[in-house]
Amino acid sequence: MILIPHILLGALIGLIAPHQYWIVFIFAFASHFLLDAIPHYEYKIQLLKERSEERMGVLNIFRDKQAFFVLGKIATDFLLGMLIAIALVWFSPARQYVLVVALSAVLPDGLLALYWMTKTPLLEKLARFHHFVHPKNNKNTPLLWGITTQLIVSLIVILLILCYR
Ligand SMILES: [Zn+2]
Repeated sequence: MILIPHILLGALIGLIAPHQYWIVFIFAFASHFLLDAIPHYEYKIQLLKERSEERMGVLNIFRDKQAFFVLGKIATDFLLGMLIAIALVWFSPARQYVLVVALSAVLPDGLLALYWMTKTPLLEKLARFHHFVHPKNNKNTPLLWGITTQLIVSLIVILLILCYR
């Protein structure tokens, strides 16, 4: 899924789960794979993956217009998700905690990117698992359906955050 639903579900978990960071961290981390298992639309990150695998280095990705555009999409997605989460839990006493848990929920995507860049065996199994949880033909998910699933998840999670904050 794009990052927004992951961040929001992470925030919800941070809000409702007991404040024992490691347990909550595991829940938030696992929630990432749960959402990725739902058929969804994803913007094309293939180019960034290829550039990472060519070990172009961060600076070269900034020089590559197309790769930079993809990076911009990811950054916008991330910032928008965090802004919505911050706005939703701003008045919660556990605000900072909730936001850290929200970050834990997107960590698997960060680790996947790190794997593409480094190809470290340490992250290989996780990268494979990440790929494995995606529906088999996720790329063929019709656009409308692929967006609708993420919208529904995000709206349900926002409603729950509003109830529990
Ligand atoms: Zn993912």
